[in-house]
Amino acid sequence: MVNPVPGSQRTARFRQQGSHWSLGWHTGEDFAAPVGTPILSCTPGTVKRLVDNDRSYGNYLVIDWNGREIWYCHMPAGAPRPAPGTAVAANQRIGSVGGTGNVTGPHLHLEMRKAPYGFNANDIIDPNEAVNYNPQEDELTPEQAALLQKLSDRQDHMFNMLSTVGSRTYTIGQIGNKLSDRQDHMFTMLSTVGSRTYATMEDVRELLARTAPETSVDTEALATEIVGSLDPASAHAVATRVSEKLNSFEIEGPANQ
Ligand SMILES: [Zn+2]
Repeated sequence: MVNPVPGSQRTARFRQQGSHWSLGWHTGEDFAAPVGTPILSCTPGTVKRLVDNDRSYGNYLVIDWNGREIWYCHMPAGAPRPAPGTAVAANQRIGSVGGTGNVTGPHLHLEMRKAPYGFNANDIIDPNEAVNYNPQEDELTPEQAALLQKLSDRQDHMFNMLSTVGSRTYTIGQIGNKLSDRQDHMFTMLSTVGSRTYATMEDVRELLARTAPETSVDTEALATEIVGSLDPASAHAVATRVSEKLNSFEIEGPANQ
């Protein structure tokens, strides 16, 4: 929270009823203090305009705060104010308390409006949102700042990567389809390899049965031994084949679109 006039008394509150106000209620918050007391900006923002000699608000300054207008009113004639377009920080001095315009004593009248203001009473909103603004919320710890930077860098990297892929050939959907196709190919290929391995074991059994039908050789045990001895080589062959097959696949998509 930033008290725009340190040491002031809060006199009239927002939407307080009163027949001496033109709308029948008070359109802002009043901070009473002697003439010349510094006025601090409640929020960061940009000076939008300076107005002098308004019958009601006297000399005032308008800050743009994320599309909302914050009015700091009744400043003394000739008191220094930052020029329109100036960026201000919360807690930065932007003027002095005065008594210009329609007042019974020196004070800051703080008012907030939706912009652009269309002379609709509903566009005048509670300025306590600005008073309650906490500058600390905008300050990151070094750890938070580092994390934010990291996330930002990662996002940039992802964006660049996707842009690169996109400009090469495909839409994301097409890439997804191609990956799915490749997966199907791999599945089909591995199934085939599996069948071939199984067939080889059958071949060994069959061969042994044919070449030594009348011997006392335990063909089942021998087949198991042979197949067992082939396993490492077969595994290597399978791996090599898988690798070759995978390398032979190219993800090719249609031309840029
Ligand atoms: Zn007021």
